[in-house]
Amino acid sequence: MSDFNWCHGPECHTKHTVDRVRGVKGSKVLRTRKIKSNKWNTNTQWEFFCSNHCQNDFWNKHARDIIAIAPRTDCLETPIHDPQKTTHNNGYYNWNDWDITVDETRQR
Ligand SMILES: [Zn+2]
Repeated sequence: MSDFNWCHGPECHTKHTVDRVRGVKGSKVLRTRKIKSNKWNTNTQWEFFCSNHCQNDFWNKHARDIIAIAPRTDCLETPIHDPQKTTHNNGYYNWNDWDITVDETRQR
């Protein structure tokens, strides 16, 4: 297993940054960024993308194919207790907090 991935952003190699410049004088290229595995990116999407921009490009190009892996055809629901409202006042204005808690006694 290699210790790096090439960025999966479909446009990564077209972005004009100095760190992407490779090759000898007179024959330069912009190259896809190499992403080394480390303790911060292992088991996250950042093993495969060098930036949010590249991740967004990938999603925009492949979203329908990705969704087809695990399509959501129905909504999901989490049983909760009736939300409890608490009204606060700081002398200038009022605001409400809603306490929402999961009802573990009901089936999910
Ligand atoms: Zn990239």
